[in-house]
Amino acid sequence: MTVFRFVFTVLFSLSASLTTLGGQAAAQGRGGPPPVVSEQATPEIMNEDPQTEQRSQDRVGFPGHKIIGNLYYVGTVTLCSYLITTPAGNILINSNYEETIPLMKKSIESLGFKLEDTKILLASHAHTDHQTGDAMFKQMTGAQTMFMEQDVPALRNMKPGGKEHPIDRVLKDGDTVTLGGTTLTAHLTPGHTLGNTTWTLKVAEGGRSYDVVILGGGLPDDARLVYNANNPAAAEQWASTIKTWQSLPVDVFLGSHSWFFNLTGKYKKLKANPNVNPYIDPAGYKKYVAETVAIRTKLIAEQTAAGPPAPRAGGPGRGN
Ligand SMILES: [Zn+2]
Repeated sequence: MTVFRFVFTVLFSLSASLTTLGGQAAAQGRGGPPPVVSEQATPEIMNEDPQTEQRSQDRVGFPGHKIIGNLYYVGTVTLCSYLITTPAGNILINSNYEETIPLMKKSIESLGFKLEDTKILLASHAHTDHQTGDAMFKQMTGAQTMFMEQDVPALRNMKPGGKEHPIDRVLKDGDTVTLGGTTLTAHLTPGHTLGNTTWTLKVAEGGRSYDVVILGGGLPDDARLVYNANNPAAAEQWASTIKTWQSLPVDVFLGSHSWFFNLTGKYKKLKANPNVNPYIDPAGYKKYVAETVAIRTKLIAEQTAAGPPAPRAGGPGRGN
């Protein structure tokens, strides 16, 4: 804890003058240039966790907009949330933080919908940046919450302000969720978390159907795949996830973080030319999956060669 506090203090001091630079550095490494925003994040909205302190744009709003068909973007600059509208009410994927729910509400209302019309709440994976807001979101909407079985133990420990994590339905790999004529399929894609979930659905626009893939968490450049005491099966889990990702038909490529699929770049293209939908990007998806394959191979080779790591002084860290 002391070590973390020290690291945080150093990072925080640096960030006072390098806030924007820090946010961009964190976003680099996977899937294109970092998002650029005009709004400056303040120290008050930063996360104290030293590993996520640079993620200062997690709590900065992004314009709500239509992606394709009945699918809309309602997340922040870096934390992706998706609204799927149907005649029987709406589905939301990823509540994110409690303090970002007002930004989401604003986005949903800017599109002419109501947060309160959400009937089902789903998620990418059991990390605090994507699911801390679940209990508050359920209080506001009464939505049914449905999460992957292997993430349930982690979710039971996620209790902001002492609120129990709401879990109305436990999903298994391949389970479907249907509302008002739209069906989503939950694919278990472990590694980032044990129950990391990739969602697929079909949307209709202009007389044709499109396959949408919303990836759960990705493989960080510094993930531990070998000699991982917390998750000895990490390398095998990622092999399974890559196989699943490679098997999915894809027209529209999305994910739990904006840098996976270059949200800002696609949004700018959409604004510049609404007649060509940049979210239809099967090549971008193939590239992302190929990068994941390469990172897995590299990490396994490096970590096998280096041997078991020294015990960490500050206790286990956390992923994104
Ligand atoms: Zn995560």
